[in-house]
Amino acid sequence: MLSQKIYSQFPNTVHDALSKLTHDLYVNQQQQWPLLADGVSALENVQTRVVDCGTFSVRLQYNPKRIVSTGAKVDTASIKERKCFLCVGNLPDEQQGVLFKEKFLVLCNPMPIFKEHFTISHVDHIPQSIEEQILTFLALAKELSPMYSVFYNGPKCGASAPDHMHFQASPTGLIPVEHEIVERMEMKKQIGGVSVSTVKDYGRSVIVLEGDTEQDVELTFLRLTRAMRLVMNTNEEPKMNVIGSFAQGLWRLIVFIRSKHRPAVFFKEGNDKILISPASVDIGGLVVTPLEKDFHIVDAEMIRNIYEEVSLTRELLNTIIEKI
Ligand SMILES: [Zn+2]
Repeated sequence: MLSQKIYSQFPNTVHDALSKLTHDLYVNQQQQWPLLADGVSALENVQTRVVDCGTFSVRLQYNPKRIVSTGAKVDTASIKERKCFLCVGNLPDEQQGVLFKEKFLVLCNPMPIFKEHFTISHVDHIPQSIEEQILTFLALAKELSPMYSVFYNGPKCGASAPDHMHFQASPTGLIPVEHEIVERMEMKKQIGGVSVSTVKDYGRSVIVLEGDTEQDVELTFLRLTRAMRLVMNTNEEPKMNVIGSFAQGLWRLIVFIRSKHRPAVFFKEGNDKILISPASVDIGGLVVTPLEKDFHIVDAEMIRNIYEEVSLTRELLNTIIEKI
């Protein structure tokens, strides 16, 4: 079954870069798979607008095709009932991917937010969990650079398949936080060769790790998640979204620490309901609204409130940093 789904492999005998293989895949799949071609051409017509929120701004994207993901039922019962759409045996006939180190399949997302938008799905049906896969996440960030960044949504804050391990990738720099934090980072400590920073005046709780050695970044990330578990008082994976990139020999992990997945306005009835369900891209400053009325209604106050509501408090964020 898997063999039919492999368009190419990384690594391969001619040492192609992963970013070349994934770009070639995207071009080929648009020719072979009408659903993807539709999704990509629909992107040309999406509307966007910038909302100035005072100390930061966000970009809204009105993207009707995202309704499936934004509105997805992710409760345990609904997940058990549905056929897992990331399992190799359930992929659409036309869909193929780049097999990464025999463990993950890089697939084109047919409902894209970006012109090239990938889902990087484990070949086995195992639960979404970043700690066990952090080395793969770092390897992907490096191998996909400089063209793409990789991101992760926790099983309870944005993953639409919380039961099937997956990452995503997008063209580098298109999630606003990737460039906005550069001027705002405040280094709090250094562990081994890895710097631990926060981001000031950003309206969200963010910790940024930067380091030039894979193993040191891995260890610091695991120290961070352990501190998060302690402070957030949970045995489960602490709620987080992570955006990873690699440039000039340095890994950078932007970790958004979350108190909850969906804001109260998501659960309201009728016209009061706002269909915003923040995952990495949204909390990173590109807020997707699948409904046109929301695209027009949303204002700065609403964005600031949603971000505050779904983020861990500043006080707890500081305690986490102390305990890393
Ligand atoms: Zn699955």
